[in-house]
Amino acid sequence: MPIPRGRQFLAIPGPTNVPLRILQALDRPPMDFTTPEFAEVAEEVQLGLRRIFKTEYDIFIWASTGHGAWEGAIANFYSPGEKVLICETGSFSEWWKEMAELFGLEVEYLPGDWRQGIDPDQLEEHLRADTSHEIKGIGIVHNETSTGLCNDLAAIRKAIDAAGHPALLMVDTISSLASIDFRMDEWGCDVVVGGSQKGLMQHTGLGLLGVSPKALKRAETATAPRRYWDIRRSLQIPYHMRNPGTAPAHFFYGLREAINFLEEETLDDVFARHARLAEGVRRAITEWAKGGAIDFFVKNEARRSNSVTAVQITGTVDSDTFRIACRDDFNVMLGGGLLQLGGKVFRIGHLGDLNEPMVWGTLAAIEATFKRKGIPHGPGGVDAAIAYLAN
Ligand code: PLP
Repeated sequence: MPIPRGRQFLAIPGPTNVPLRILQALDRPPMDFTTPEFAEVAEEVQLGLRRIFKTEYDIFIWASTGHGAWEGAIANFYSPGEKVLICETGSFSEWWKEMAELFGLEVEYLPGDWRQGIDPDQLEEHLRADTSHEIKGIGIVHNETSTGLCNDLAAIRKAIDAAGHPALLMVDTISSLASIDFRMDEWGCDVVVGGSQKGLMQHTGLGLLGVSPKALKRAETATAPRRYWDIRRSLQIPYHMRNPGTAPAHFFYGLREAINFLEEETLDDVFARHARLAEGVRRAITEWAKGGAIDFFVKNEARRSNSVTAVQITGTVDSDTFRIACRDDFNVMLGGGLLQLGGKVFRIGHLGDLNEPMVWGTLAAIEATFKRKGIPHGPGGVDAAIAYLAN
């Protein structure tokens, strides 16, 4: 294998690139996490995260991956045997469903087309049929990272309200938070799962959970066993001591820097940058698709994600062979296909600390790999991205 030279392009949909100023903020020796100095940082981070989640309520922060926050989202609000509805969107909805089942919940899995996204009318109809309100929670992946599809949360909230259903709305924002517009309170989200390693531009290692007062009430009576994830216990103690056990203190310095960075740009401009860069990627794929072997996985154009795009390859080269060639030949890391999409799609992550040349470079490496592998593709994909983003 050739020795990789130059800078590696991390174009997977998380973890994302960590900017130097955040790396520097993270880089500190272990500290006593009980000091007033750290308490101040933890409070700043708590208030900053509320602005990012667009909520006025508590955010719980754990030393964990996103899977941990998923577990916290289930363990805190339900009792074994209770029913939840999880909407099928892709691999991440499958795994969340599995976790709910392991907690002894009765899971209804609302069938969904991975290429179209959640149909709010179908959801409304399903909820209307639940006249005795047996469904206690509705689980939605806002941005399905395995397919590159962003669901319309405002329309989903409207559908739940139109059905007059009181279930908690649980939302996974792991690959949308701080990249794509998300409004916890305005959209009536009760339980919101986030992670550190995507739009927040950190290393992997923090699970985040936003909790509405309605959800908090359920936490008081839910009987699922929990200790690490127990938010009732955390609420009794100050922010800097809430992680069970030793606080992952350096992460709070990184998060504080990330929040400052995002707010200097402004959240609206962060979302606009992601939308623009994503459109640049889509312009390239549109040209490549004219060759017949390349296509968007997501068919619903309005719902194509601004943080990740899944690209389907049909023909003789499977997408993993392609992805590995791109990695080994050009030091450009793309995401692979998950579950049934293994070998069928590769994923371009375009979120976090990213600019135009990083997108162009990634697209150029992809186009060059198409050529090396003899994959039929329309010409001019990179040119189309340059033309769009040069404007
Ligand atoms: N949910 C979504 C939408 C994700 O993209 C991911 C990870 O990529 C997860 C959940 C799981 O997060 P983690 O890998 O941090 O456990």
